Amino acid sequence: MDKYEILLELNRISEEKCKMDPKEQLRPILKEMKHIKMAVEVGLQEQEAYVQATAAADKEITELRDHLPRLAATISRGKERMALVKGMTLKEMLSIQQTVAKSEDSVVQSRARIDQLQYDCEEYLAEARKASAMVSELKRQYNEKVKVYQKEKERIELQYAALLSKEEALKEALGPKLLRAFNEAARVVPVNPVAVLRNGYCSGCRVEVSGQMKRLVAQQSENLQHCDHCRRILLPASAVRTYSDS
Ligand SMILES: [Zn+2]
Repeated sequence: MDKYEILLELNRISEEKCKMDPKEQLRPILKEMKHIKMAVEVGLQEQEAYVQATAAADKEITELRDHLPRLAATISRGKERMALVKGMTLKEMLSIQQTVAKSEDSVVQSRARIDQLQYDCEEYLAEARKASAMVSELKRQYNEKVKVYQKEKERIELQYAALLSKEEALKEALGPKLLRAFNEAARVVPVNPVAVLRNGYCSGCRVEVSGQMKRLVAQQSENLQHCDHCRRILLPASAVRTYSDS
């Protein structure tokens, strides 16, 4: 590898390093993980809502059941009194009859309500179980994604490390003097610090350089030339062509 080949390879590595931002590459997986986490939250809330609805229905069933003996007592007391018609006015009798009828009605309604609530409870429990199964499945999916994330992260980091060690070796091969020139250009244009001079124009910034600079680059001296405009290292087109053809 001659110095131009090394410089072009270093340039390629710089570009690759910029494209390889691990954070950017892992973003899609992280986004999916976030969506699953949000779905888990929704599932848990749903589950909790059904559990609470079940508790509320249970409470109402208990209250209705507790009230039933009182209604039964009112009915039997009224019936007993009606059996002893003697000395009772018609108005009193009608009132007792009404109370008994109302209580009997309440008993029927309470029983119907209890049946409905028991049915509802079963429905709520079935829904809560469904939500719980969904949450488990989502958690499983989340754990799978965590594994994918870790594997992907490892892969990217290894790739990046390989790139860095290759860069290190190339920089060493370049020698301190040329490396200083490369680093100087890389400080200004980190993505692609190396450009080619084609027909007097810098391939990096597309600005024409001075006649003096054209001559210096064409001479291919030991010293590297920087573009007057963008500070990229300028390689002669001839050197690059040889490199690409080989
Ligand atoms: Zn330039």
